[in-house]
Amino acid sequence: MKTLNLHCDYIKFKALKRALKSIEEIAPNQIMEGESKECLIVMIAIEKGDSESTIPEIVHSIKKITSDVKTENVVIYPYAHLSSNLSSPESAIIILNKIREELSPLNVIQAPFGYYKTFEIKVKGHPLSELSREFKTKEEVKDISDKQIANLLRTISKSKLDTSKLAENDHRIIGNKMNLWSFNNMAPGMVFWHPKGLHIKNKLIDFWRELHRNAKYQEISTPQVMDKKLWELSGHWSKYGENNFRTEYEKRDFLVKPMNCPGGMLVYKTSPKTYKDLPLRVGEIGIVHRVELSGTLGGLFRLIQFTQDDAHIFCTEEQLENEVTKIIELINKIFNQFNLKFDHVELSTRPEKRVGDEKVWDLTEKILEKILKKSKMKYTINEGDGAFYGPKIDFHLKDSLNRTWQCSTIQLDMALPERFDLSYQDKDGLLKKPIMLHRVIYGSLERFIGIITEHFNGKFPLWISPNQIKIMTLNDNAKKYAQEIYKDLFSAGLEVELNDKSESMGKKVREAQIQRFNYLVVLGEKEKIERKIAVKKWGSKEITTMTLEEFKNKIKKEIVQKQL
Ligand SMILES: [Zn+2]
Repeated sequence: MKTLNLHCDYIKFKALKRALKSIEEIAPNQIMEGESKECLIVMIAIEKGDSESTIPEIVHSIKKITSDVKTENVVIYPYAHLSSNLSSPESAIIILNKIREELSPLNVIQAPFGYYKTFEIKVKGHPLSELSREFKTKEEVKDISDKQIANLLRTISKSKLDTSKLAENDHRIIGNKMNLWSFNNMAPGMVFWHPKGLHIKNKLIDFWRELHRNAKYQEISTPQVMDKKLWELSGHWSKYGENNFRTEYEKRDFLVKPMNCPGGMLVYKTSPKTYKDLPLRVGEIGIVHRVELSGTLGGLFRLIQFTQDDAHIFCTEEQLENEVTKIIELINKIFNQFNLKFDHVELSTRPEKRVGDEKVWDLTEKILEKILKKSKMKYTINEGDGAFYGPKIDFHLKDSLNRTWQCSTIQLDMALPERFDLSYQDKDGLLKKPIMLHRVIYGSLERFIGIITEHFNGKFPLWISPNQIKIMTLNDNAKKYAQEIYKDLFSAGLEVELNDKSESMGKKVREAQIQRFNYLVVLGEKEKIERKIAVKKWGSKEITTMTLEEFKNKIKKEIVQKQL
């Protein structure tokens, strides 16, 4: 239903001839001619899909306008030209008559429906005198039946992991046993993080933030969904069009971001930059979505939604070598922390089709190789395999099935600064284009978690472990003491659980081992009397008795030092 409301000095109207043959049968006794003064004219078109349920809303709207413009006179004026999607005359008449009735006690007259009419009006000039409105019937949403609910519930609950082809230390099996995350076909290629899995992810992000802060990075966060225009400018729309999730808002096309870079470009451009701002290192832990065929998805290694630890570095040619060296240092720092060794490193050089200055290609390829040589990393050169916008270095790791996965990358970009017209003012006062690097270290946080889950076989180092300490009671007499110890460790910020059930120690230990707790704390009569605790470290046969304070100091040290 569309309306145009006009506050007028007067209106005169007159029916000329029938527009609908059967109009006299559908709507007998209409007024063929009329006039009104100091009135609100409601020109109205009833559309397909409109129903009586919309009437209260439109009546309310008309009453509101009459009170705003201080008039009691209303002319309902059927005006088909407002819409190209008209309802049937039969239902339009019913709705129009209802509206007229509901408008009482206002003085309402209704111009004839289904006739060609002539009219003369004089509209007042104030801001409220012309208002158009659209009213939509709210779709009646019928709830589904109990049977349908039961069927849907069965469908959405199906998410059993097929373990038949997986290695025993496959992260999918470990994640399942340890209750770290799950997958569900309702969101293919996307992770449902359970509390313990999310704990690991958050610890990795904390570690990343600490290192990047020390390395003088700044962190930003950009929107998840951005206008198509931005992606046309960045080149993602045409290049990866089919691999993107599209959506829309107010008739504008939007993309769910497959990369963080274009958002970062917009942030760069919000303020003018000078040489003093460079090198500018800007990080973003951003969630990105890329369409992948469902058949290629595999646990945390290949996903549709993942978290990138992105950063963009803007620098001068002179700063480039130092910046790349620093990135490689950062990469090594993070991977050494987990005792992970790269399977191989690849340097990809200029392809045939490329953009950018040849001098910059020469310079950067030379610098990248020089740094790789100096770092004593084993690397191969992929001649001609670089992106069209710049050379890159990729770092690969192996998984439990001996497949290699790319994690860290460093990539020079000569296209985006050009496309987004990035600049900085140099010492000589001239505007110059910065050199831009993209780099990720974990790559995809999800993939990295998959790799370390397999690497540690689920026995995570204490500082990221979601299962640090399991307290177990030898018998019910130690229950109260165990609760006291539990509360103390929990308040100290540790990931601690208590099993004080009346079951055998063997069962309790087996359970704790599946969960790969770093420390088992066993409490019985003896410990209770001595005010001590018996501690067994994962993988060690030795049980050590100590005070709670000694234990806390020991594990706090282990956490701070991020011991493996
Ligand atoms: Zn980027």
